[in-house]
Amino acid sequence: MKIHVLTLFPEIPRAFFENSIMAKAVERGIIDCSLINIRDFAFDKHKSCDDSTYGGGAGMLMLPEPLSAALESAGVTRKEGNPAGSGGEIKRRQRVVFPTPSGKPFSQAYAYELSREEELVFVCGRYEGIDQRIIDLYVDDEISIGDYVTSSGELAAAVIIDAVYRLIPGVISSESLDEESFSDGLLEYPQYTRPEIFRGEKVPEVLLSGHHEKIRLWRLRKRVEKTLRVRPDLVEASLKKGVYPEETAALIEEMKNGLD
Ligand code: SAM
Repeated sequence: MKIHVLTLFPEIPRAFFENSIMAKAVERGIIDCSLINIRDFAFDKHKSCDDSTYGGGAGMLMLPEPLSAALESAGVTRKEGNPAGSGGEIKRRQRVVFPTPSGKPFSQAYAYELSREEELVFVCGRYEGIDQRIIDLYVDDEISIGDYVTSSGELAAAVIIDAVYRLIPGVISSESLDEESFSDGLLEYPQYTRPEIFRGEKVPEVLLSGHHEKIRLWRLRKRVEKTLRVRPDLVEASLKKGVYPEETAALIEEMKNGLD
């Protein structure tokens, strides 16, 4: 997958792309990443990338011209697909994402959907955000990482990219993905590593038993218990969608009654 990040502060996403599993995915050619400094496309001598808003109001907005030039440098065409006068439809390869608090909520399902794309382009907002015409002309997805406001889009883009690229086949083992939180409407079970006793707290006996079926059942109960406690909304939604196997649904019923 090719990922472009359009930003006024390339040093922020650079740290992410140059470290850990992402760095390995880049090295192995699974991810190809390009950081595009929007300021390189500023057209005045002060290299301005923001201005005040029409109609008044606090704060500055990112200018549309440097952004559209930066997008087009990444090969992005307008949504209608055609550079002026070219004639004929050009199918866009890229999916353009603008992280914004007023976007659709991000989720694991959304991450899976984006992980199937060939090329993603992220537009990182600053100040009050970006001119609406950039959204209208180029942006396919406005995505929110949660109901709060951060000061920049770089961190939001990194959150989305991080959730997406690890789902691409070959980045991490598919086994690790199977029992992760949200993979099947349940949160993850508690996990332990060495030492067996830490500050007087012992690893649950069942995990030391070597009894695979007992361990599986214990983990499933823990997942159900935690999901019911901290995310009853997730349980309700998953029950409605019918995503739980019979065994899990029965356990939910039993433990729900215990919570009443
Ligand atoms: N004026 C905007 C509003 O009220 O919706 C907030 C702008 S925020 C200070 C600057 C940038 O940070 C946004 O353009 C966006 O790119 C990013 N951002 C902030 N919070 C975000 C969130 N919850 N999800 C995704 N992006 C976010």
